[in-house]
Amino acid sequence: MCGIVGYTGFRQAHPILIEGLKRLEYRGYDSAGVAIQVNGHLEVVKRAGRISVLESNLRPDTLLGTCGISHTRWATHGAPNDVNAHPHLDATGRIALVHNGIIENYQALRTYLEHRGVEFKSDTDTEVLVQLVGHFYRDDLEAAVRAALRDVRGTYGIAVICSDEPGKIVAARKGSPLIIGIGDGEFVVASDAAAIIQHMTQVIYLSDGEMATVWDDGFRTTTLDALPVNKEVTELELSLEDIELGGHEHFMLKEILEQPESLADGMRGRVNVADGRIHLGGLASLARELVQTKRVILTGCGTAWHAGLVGEYLFEDLARIPTEVEYASEFRYRNPVLEPGTVVIAISQSGETADTLAALREARDKGSLVLGVVNVVGSTIARETDAGVYLHVGPEIGVASTKAYLGQVLVLTMIALYMGRRKHLSQPDLLRYLSALEALPGQIRKITQQSDDIRKVADKFKDSENWLYLGRGYNYPTALEGALKLKEISYIHAEGMPAAEMKHGPIALITKDMPVVFIAPRNSHYDKVISNIEEVRARRGRVIAVATEGDTEIAKLAEHVFYVPDVPEPLQPMLTVVPLQLLAYHAAVLRGCDVDKPRNLAKSVTVE
Ligand code: GLU
Repeated sequence: MCGIVGYTGFRQAHPILIEGLKRLEYRGYDSAGVAIQVNGHLEVVKRAGRISVLESNLRPDTLLGTCGISHTRWATHGAPNDVNAHPHLDATGRIALVHNGIIENYQALRTYLEHRGVEFKSDTDTEVLVQLVGHFYRDDLEAAVRAALRDVRGTYGIAVICSDEPGKIVAARKGSPLIIGIGDGEFVVASDAAAIIQHMTQVIYLSDGEMATVWDDGFRTTTLDALPVNKEVTELELSLEDIELGGHEHFMLKEILEQPESLADGMRGRVNVADGRIHLGGLASLARELVQTKRVILTGCGTAWHAGLVGEYLFEDLARIPTEVEYASEFRYRNPVLEPGTVVIAISQSGETADTLAALREARDKGSLVLGVVNVVGSTIARETDAGVYLHVGPEIGVASTKAYLGQVLVLTMIALYMGRRKHLSQPDLLRYLSALEALPGQIRKITQQSDDIRKVADKFKDSENWLYLGRGYNYPTALEGALKLKEISYIHAEGMPAAEMKHGPIALITKDMPVVFIAPRNSHYDKVISNIEEVRARRGRVIAVATEGDTEIAKLAEHVFYVPDVPEPLQPMLTVVPLQLLAYHAAVLRGCDVDKPRNLAKSVTVE
C-alpha cells in the first residue's frame, strides 16, 4: 500500500533508503523503518510518525552497511505504532521483511505458527509472513520466501533480507507494485519509480506472481514456482524535476497550476484540428471493434469515479452509447451482467488501485473488452487491459488528485469523440470540439489567475464545518469532486449532489452558516440552477458560484463568483473544477492542514 525501498551495492545503504522513503512520502503513511545488514547481524530502527522522526532516532555510526530495506507503512492491521511499523523480524532476528498489501489468511497462519512456539511481537498481518519465512529458512532465503508465499493468500509487494546472506535482497509481488532499478554494481528495489530515478534509469517491472533476487553484482527473476523469467529492461520515463516542488509551496498547488501544460501534454499528437481527427494510438488496433460497442461501463474509485461520471454524460451525449458508471469496489461483488458488445473502461491514476484492478479482472473473465485510462506508464492496470489511453499528465505527487482528474476527463472526452465520430457525430461538430479542446490550456491558466480572490473566499468560510456543492448535468460530477477535494485535505464535511436533489431533503440543512457552492456556467440547465440558487438564498444560505465570464445576473445573486470562460457544454467539467481545486487547497492551508500528506489517506490504494 505504501512505500518500499531496498538497496544493495557498494554505497552506504541507510542514506539512500531514507532519501528514497522521502521521495515516497507523498503517498501518505503513518510510520517508517529501516533494517540494515551490519557485520553479520541486522540493525532495525522503526518509528510511528513522519520519516523525520525516524531520522532523528537513527545513529549513523551503528548503521554502517551496504545492504538494507526500508518501508513507510499505511496501517491496515494493527495501530500505527513503533512495534507495528515495518521492517518485521523473524523469531531469530536474522530475517527482516517489509510488506505492502494485506495477508488475508494471517489469522490461520498465526495460529499455526503459535502452536509451534513462535511468539509474535506485533498485531500486523505482515509479521506472520516474516515468521513463516523464518520457519522455512534452511540457509537459502529465496527458497524460504518462495515456500512462505505458497501458503499465503492476499496481496503483497515484499523485500526481504537475511543477516546470513550478505548483500542479497529477495523481492516478490502479487497485487502491489515493485520495480527493480539496475545500476552498475548496485540495485534499488522500490514500490515506486520516484525512489529510483535519482540513482538509475534502467528498470525492470516485476509482474504479479514474480520474484527477483538481487545481490551486489547481479540479479535473477523467476516465477513464484522458481521458473526463470526473462524480464525486459526499460528506461524510466521520469525526470527528477517531475517529482520535485520547483519553488511551489505544495505539490498540490504545483499540480493545479501546471494543469495548462499537463492538459496540453495529454492532447499532444492526439487532438489535431488541422487534419480534423482524434488520434488515439492505444485504440488504433481496436477501432473496428469499438464501433460495435453496445454499452460502456466506466469503473473507478474516488476521484476517478467522478471522472467516470463525466464520462457517462460524454459517451451518451457525443457517441450515443448507453453508459453506466460503477464503483469498482462494488462491481466485482455484484456479479454484473456483461453481454457481448460491452466495453469496460477502468480509470485509475496510479494504475495500481486494487479495487479497480479486481473490477477489470472480473470484466475480462466475463469476456468483455477492457480498456485502461491510467497515468502511470507500465502500471498493472495498463498491462492487464486489452488496450488503453495514457493520461500523459506527468507524475502526480499530491495525494488529492487534481491534474490527473483533469487528464482522466480529457482522455474520456477524446475517447467519446473518437467513438462518436465513428457513429453519430458530424465532422463539423468534431471540428468545433477539437478547436475548443485546443483552447483549454490557455483558459485554465486564466482561471488559476483568480487564485488570490479564491483564497480570500476560502479565508472567509474556512471555519464553516459543513458545505454543500451543487451542480446539474455535466457539472453534477464537478460538484462531487469539489466536495471531495475539500473533505480530503481540509477535513471539512462537504456533500456534493445534483442541484435539483437539494429540495428533496438536504435543504433542511441550509442556514445562514452554510456555504453552498453552485457550479452554474451558462448551459442548458442554467435557468434551473438559478432557481436553485434562489431557493438557497430564501433560506439565507451563503452562495458561492462558479459562472461563465460576463454573467452579470449571477453576480447579483451570489456572495462570490469565480469565472470560467465560455466553452461547449461537454467541455465545461474541465474548467469548472479548477476554481474548486483552488478553493479546497486554500481552505486547507488556511486551516493549517498538511495538504500533501492528508490524514489517513494514501496516494494509491492497493488494498481492497
Ligand atoms: N498490512 C500491512 C500492515 O498493516 C502492510 C500495510 C502497508 O501496505 O503499508 O502492517
